Amino acid sequence: MRNILLPALSALLLTGCIDQPATAPRPAAPVASADMGQASARYARVTARVEPVAEQICRSFHQDKPASFCDFQFALREDPNEPANAFQSIGRDGRPLITFNSNMLKQVQNDDELAFVMAHEAGHQTATHLIKSRNNQILGGAVLGLLVGLGGGDTRAGVNLGTRIGGLAYSKKYELQADTIAVHITDRAGYDAERGVKELARTGGSNSFLSTHPASAERVANAQAVLADIRRAKSQGRRAPIVW
Ligand SMILES: [Zn+2]
Repeated sequence: MRNILLPALSALLLTGCIDQPATAPRPAAPVASADMGQASARYARVTARVEPVAEQICRSFHQDKPASFCDFQFALREDPNEPANAFQSIGRDGRPLITFNSNMLKQVQNDDELAFVMAHEAGHQTATHLIKSRNNQILGGAVLGLLVGLGGGDTRAGVNLGTRIGGLAYSKKYELQADTIAVHITDRAGYDAERGVKELARTGGSNSFLSTHPASAERVANAQAVLADIRRAKSQGRRAPIVW
């Protein structure tokens, strides 16, 4: 059983990236770099505007959790050799941590795009994707470990593979959900969400062979539909509810 099952399941892994459960889109091609000092200033400026809005929206869905659950922290990783990336994790103090690396910062072309990517990462926390991914990993590992063990195979290999597959289980759905929340955060923070979403179209979103992200066209279409809802609500004098 191991001889058949493991290669077949290994092939599935090639459809997604496993290093970060919550990553922002990677660029399709090198883009002209802004000056790093200017990029850092932009990071500080946009963080100051996005954080309070992201925190307020997150809290509105998690009133039962400690305030720290939505108290976003931001970090900047300066490594010129690291591919452009942004991701959300949980810091040592238990608060959500949004990290951008320098190449990601250099490649966003305006404040609206940076706000959108930042808001996307905050969306992952709001929708509790890290927790869900971890649960999927545990379940995947348990189920596949059991199956491989029952088939006479290497249980530990089954657990490892199941853990990885479990982590990918809903990754594309989670990316679309994070985008949905991001459009709301971007708009409510006073940025141009339509311009922000262009980051998706420009960078390709899922150009990477190992990306966890859906095709950029699907992401752009989803984000534009959310934006249309927001605008329709505004024209009727109301605020669109955040539904993902
Ligand atoms: Zn993401």
